[in-house]
Amino acid sequence: VANALNTQTPVEIDTQIAHLLGEAAKHFDTAQNALRKHDRLREILHSGDAYAKQAAGGEAAIRMRIAELKDIAETEQAQGRDYESEIVPLNQEWRNRGQWTRVYLVDNSNGHVHTSTACRNTYASTQFIWITRLSGASEGEVIEQAGSRTCLTCFPSVREEIIAGRPCMIESPARRASRLEREARIVARAEKMRKTGITNPDGTPLVINDLGKREIKTEVAANRAAMQAAYDIRLYSTTDPYAPEWAENMERCLAALAHKRGTTVAIEREALIKKVEAKYRREMQ
Ligand SMILES: [Zn+2]
Repeated sequence: VANALNTQTPVEIDTQIAHLLGEAAKHFDTAQNALRKHDRLREILHSGDAYAKQAAGGEAAIRMRIAELKDIAETEQAQGRDYESEIVPLNQEWRNRGQWTRVYLVDNSNGHVHTSTACRNTYASTQFIWITRLSGASEGEVIEQAGSRTCLTCFPSVREEIIAGRPCMIESPARRASRLEREARIVARAEKMRKTGITNPDGTPLVINDLGKREIKTEVAANRAAMQAAYDIRLYSTTDPYAPEWAENMERCLAALAHKRGTTVAIEREALIKKVEAKYRREMQ
């Protein structure tokens, strides 16, 4: 531990404990898995089932693997215990300071926010998520954050009608991560729309008649549609029966483009006509 314990905040100390608990759990899990395999191989070895022994590589290989698995389990358990022993002085500091508040969330639809995993409103099987960022917080701060999910057993001073309907701002790391991801996606989509999207100047969808109604959603598509309409008029002349529709499409797109680009319809039309003439000359020569 780099800093002297008595200079660290409750959040700092409990964050370390939570980390150490997680590391210890990983090693104990690995040890458990090794032990399960170890026990299964021992059963095979002592079963007299010749076929199973053969399938597992033969007796000598099984004995060797059993010894390896035993080593792995012992090593992993020792590593887990090392992590646990690092927790001891940290928890001692918590006791020395009179046991600051610790906050636990039960992360299901009717889960509550508790100050103890031994709360009598929970079960032995209840899964708690330790919210270490609230370690050492005052009762008022926890209630403020927990809202209607405040456990009334852990906070006996709270009256139910006071917290009813209040939002809970405490969430599990997994929920927090997926919420942030969802929010980032929404922002990115809006940002993309702001850059590439297009509508009529009044914000309504830009729709053209193109063998039926078609919504134009991007600046690129509006450009292409305006170009197509203007080119059709140039090619088939304004006497074509479809010419009024093409003209209408072109004007709608030009208005949307001018609005999007902060120019004027006249400027957009002039640029479009130049492009159409160039294309016409290219294709008619
Ligand atoms: Zn409780």
